Amino acid sequence: MLSPYDRIAVALSGGKDSAALLHILTKIEERFPRVELIAITIDEGIRGYRREAIRIARENCKKLGVEQSIFSFKKLYNHTLDELAKIAKEKLQLTPCSICGILRRKALNVAAKEVGATKLATAHNLDDESQTILINIIHGDIWKLARVEPMITRPFPGFITRIKPLCRIPESEVAFYAYLQRIKFQESSCPYMRDTLRSHVRLTLNRLEVRYPGTKFKIIRSIEKIRPLLKGLVEVELKYCKICGEPSIKGTCRACEILSKIEN
Ligand code: SF4
Repeated sequence: MLSPYDRIAVALSGGKDSAALLHILTKIEERFPRVELIAITIDEGIRGYRREAIRIARENCKKLGVEQSIFSFKKLYNHTLDELAKIAKEKLQLTPCSICGILRRKALNVAAKEVGATKLATAHNLDDESQTILINIIHGDIWKLARVEPMITRPFPGFITRIKPLCRIPESEVAFYAYLQRIKFQESSCPYMRDTLRSHVRLTLNRLEVRYPGTKFKIIRSIEKIRPLLKGLVEVELKYCKICGEPSIKGTCRACEILSKIEN
């Protein structure tokens, strides 16, 4: 995933996974003097939640001596997630998490480019990845299913290669590491994280894992076997979004599509 000359942008939210990832990458970086680390934090604008996360993220960066850049939905998109969530529910029947995921993915690419990163590291763990696989199967979204991979790279200028170094580590082990290393992280959950499909899938997978240990690993391994077969079917050429200029599979990227529907 990494080369000795990378400038790695770490998506740092203030939660345990990204705080642990930053900690681990800082340790690895010590052995590679040409590698540079920079934390990028996205402020979605979630009242009563994100402010604390940003404070903790800032403290972690200070402690580890890592530079941090903060990018907000408000600045990038003119709206906070709280503002968008209300309108999107009425107009588009979209959940806050769906909008948040789409806008954050784009924000991370924009931010990674702005800080001159060669790689964008996110802290998706085994639980996140196995949940995403099941959700994509439930939605019948083959294209997204094929894209659940540890490293997403596209030979397209403006697309920053994404890596997920923790994608085979169970969430409980990441949490254990964070506690053992006395890493500070935000313990409260996002107020929007209720009654979503992901929360049901999470619960189901956790139950299955207790009864049939290894279930989450097996889901990942299954997709590793299936992915080469899907690739040919879903391979698409990237283009630049005609509104924002970001890499997109369609003429207008999903984020601009949603924003223009909300604003008009
Ligand atoms: S729970 Fe949903 S709304 Fe909250 S940060 Fe995560 S994706 Fe965004």
